[in-house]
Amino acid sequence: MLLRMSTLFLRTLREDPADAEVPSHKLLVRAGYVRRVAPGIYSWLPLGKIVLENVARVVREEMNRIGAQEVLFPALLPRDYYEATGRWTEYGDTLFRLKDRKGADYLLGPTHEEMFTDMVKGEYSSYKDYPVTLYQIQTKYRDEARPRAGILRGREFVMKDSYSFDLDDDGLKRSYEMHREAYIRIFERLGIDYRVVFAMSGAMGGSASEEFLAKAPTGEDTFVACRNCDYAANAEAVVTPAPPAVRTAQPALEVLDTPNTPTIESLVDHVNEHFGLGITAADTLKNIVVKVRTPGSDKLETLIIGVPGDREIDFKRLEAFLAPGVPEIFEAEDFVRHPGLVRGYIGPQVLKSLGIRYLVDPRVVEGSAWVTGANQPGKHAAHVVAGRDFEADGTIEAAEVRAGDACPRCGHPLSIDRGIEIGHIFQLGRKYADAAGLDALGPDGKPIRITMGSYGVGVSRAVAVLAEQRHDELGLVWPREVAPADVHIVGTGKENQIEVAAQLAETLEARGLRVLVDDRPGVSPGVKFKDAELLGLPTVLIVGRGLAQGVVELRDRAAGTKQEIPLDEAVDRVLAAAQA
Ligand code: ATP
Ligand code: MG
Repeated sequence: MLLRMSTLFLRTLREDPADAEVPSHKLLVRAGYVRRVAPGIYSWLPLGKIVLENVARVVREEMNRIGAQEVLFPALLPRDYYEATGRWTEYGDTLFRLKDRKGADYLLGPTHEEMFTDMVKGEYSSYKDYPVTLYQIQTKYRDEARPRAGILRGREFVMKDSYSFDLDDDGLKRSYEMHREAYIRIFERLGIDYRVVFAMSGAMGGSASEEFLAKAPTGEDTFVACRNCDYAANAEAVVTPAPPAVRTAQPALEVLDTPNTPTIESLVDHVNEHFGLGITAADTLKNIVVKVRTPGSDKLETLIIGVPGDREIDFKRLEAFLAPGVPEIFEAEDFVRHPGLVRGYIGPQVLKSLGIRYLVDPRVVEGSAWVTGANQPGKHAAHVVAGRDFEADGTIEAAEVRAGDACPRCGHPLSIDRGIEIGHIFQLGRKYADAAGLDALGPDGKPIRITMGSYGVGVSRAVAVLAEQRHDELGLVWPREVAPADVHIVGTGKENQIEVAAQLAETLEARGLRVLVDDRPGVSPGVKFKDAELLGLPTVLIVGRGLAQGVVELRDRAAGTKQEIPLDEAVDRVLAAAQA
């Protein structure tokens, strides 16, 4: 492959795009890899397309290596398959729905469990046919609530999705393990710095599931890792260890005058000063009201969540816990419709009589005593005891997880980091096989219900993740495996430098390298150097003024090193760098 910048369809930009906040978005646009069409919808220009295909190639090779077979489904799908599993409705606003000219309902596929299940059902019937794993690399559509950061979170994006079909649970575990290993190889080859963490299964249903998170301060996912054992989990999936129930008798509930205590901090100061309680924020019980919308219905359920006052609600944890229900903010006008709820002074004591569902943080154990609202303006209540003064309808994982919290496995402190989800592996089980009636005829003539796994890699997202993890203040720094070319040869100056650069490019291409040569006439060396830094190819060879003395300059983009070398060594040195 030989790309000539004199004709390459590429225009780099000196300025960051106005809507870009994260480095990958700024750099991929500035370097001319992608262009925005609409929010969360991007086009790929020649260099970007090459990088995208390189990522897809690595994914494909590793999927083929575990025996997965590639197929391709349409993105435009009829409603009935998704109706049968309930996802036509459950997917809520994230699903792109459309109608054909006859008024029939269609959707743009957000993920393809239903379609793969149906395909296997159509072709296979005997236990002898199984196991089988199929995959595709295809465009997915999700009307994301917050498309952001360029191609990191698109509304149209490329995903590799695979699905395993097994006769029994052991088979499913084997398929899952094979995918896990394939994903490790994929992300190692791509040069992504990642971690495998426990995940919530979310709208997919099913049980065991892990995510591959690329470490990045700009990531939308928060994950914890134990400093002592190997526990690591998405914050959404962290289970709070509950303290033991309190058996000792508590003083009777007491209503306290607490004027002008709008914050937890002011409440704690007030009750300590005036009533000598000696509490901290963690001894108060904060009650947050939300409305929960069930997709497909207009009904909104009022739900109150009780968390210790020293913790905020983590909305992502809340959303993950309530899925497919969607929590919404409880507004001032909602309070008007619920006169029993005294804004700012809600306590769980009255919720049973109001008929409002109440879920508590796992720390709110039987017998524990709290300072909380007294359901009257300006008043709080002390010694409000769980199980005595109120009953919760269950627990909820909605409180924020903090660095230093106890590891649910070993009790040592957890650390917290941010990451970007690049892959997700699920043991789905029989949910989709049940919906489709996917059985194999067993050796005894009896049907065996198939068990499934589903596995995704964000192919287009991986491009952005690499840009996010591999760049410096000058530009992109691609790992060789995905770089648009191995070497960027820059011919500068007015003499025969461009000619020599072009000759070197041809020689290196003939030796099997992928080459980009800057053979643009009349472009200043400064501009060419800047572009080379911005585009981020791993090896840069400069054919400039030194040519008169028979020397060229070899640069390593990642290491930031420069070296003058004799012209007649250039080909071998570039080849050696490409093979290193
Ligand atoms: P997220 O939590 O980031 O919304 P998800 O859990 O909904 O992702 P999956 O359904 O597990 O995503 O999809 C498999 C993979 O597809 C993800 O691991 C991610 O790499 C990629 N992916 C998901 N949504 C997007 C998107 N909007 N843009 C780009 N890639 C995406
Ligand atoms: Mg996921």
